[in-house]
Amino acid sequence: MGAGVAPVPAVRSKGEKPHVSSCPQTTRSPATELVLRRLSERFPVPDKPRLAPLDELVLTILSQSTTDENRDRAWRTLAARYPAEEAGEGAGGASPPGPISWEAVLRATPAELEDAVRVAGLANQKAPAIHAALERLRAEVGRITLDHLEEMGDEEAIAYLTTFRGVGVKTAACVLCFSLRRPVLPVDTHVLRIARRLAWVPPRASADLTYATLLRTVPPSERFRMHMLLITFGRSLCLARAPRCGECPLEPECPAIGV
Ligand code: SF4
Repeated sequence: MGAGVAPVPAVRSKGEKPHVSSCPQTTRSPATELVLRRLSERFPVPDKPRLAPLDELVLTILSQSTTDENRDRAWRTLAARYPAEEAGEGAGGASPPGPISWEAVLRATPAELEDAVRVAGLANQKAPAIHAALERLRAEVGRITLDHLEEMGDEEAIAYLTTFRGVGVKTAACVLCFSLRRPVLPVDTHVLRIARRLAWVPPRASADLTYATLLRTVPPSERFRMHMLLITFGRSLCLARAPRCGECPLEPECPAIGV
């Protein structure tokens, strides 16, 4: 590791189930502070529209293992085939092109729903996951909404969302971070790759372990900004294949230079 950067105090205990509290004791980390400062100097923090919690959940399920373009194409197909027609139906907040009638989506046959989201890939997993969430909400809440997340604490909301089919900690954290603006830090493929390269976590650390580590080292007020900057950084410089290390503002300290 280059001079001047203290390692992140990672959570390393083997076999330990990662904690998912969004407000654990945060240990000041010069390493993450330096990265935040350097990336802030290089990139603007992208804006992200806030969606209703259920919209964000479905959008995040659609985004799993695919590009933003194909996620958005699947969303537009849902919006075209199952448009919300009545006032108040569909999204409770800002929405991508739509809004979508979740009641109509719930009435779709499994084959119809799978066809609608096919462009996002893994349609045989994503369509049942979406249908199961809508069906469960209708049965348990009486309405197809996730607005009751507002009443839950961060840890409770993560635990609740991860009981839904196909929803892991990353997807749950996206809903909290983007829809509710809670102080969590979703670990997607870019965040995980960068955290490993910067040795914030061990080289084979899981996403859940990385999530727990970052909650301990990034203050709550900086988590949204850190997430957004790492995504921009991962898409533009710290690429999965052939990272552009020669242009990287973190190059002097990066232990993975030349990967
Ligand atoms: S030096 Fe290369 S591997 Fe390291 S953070 Fe920068 S782009 Fe990524």
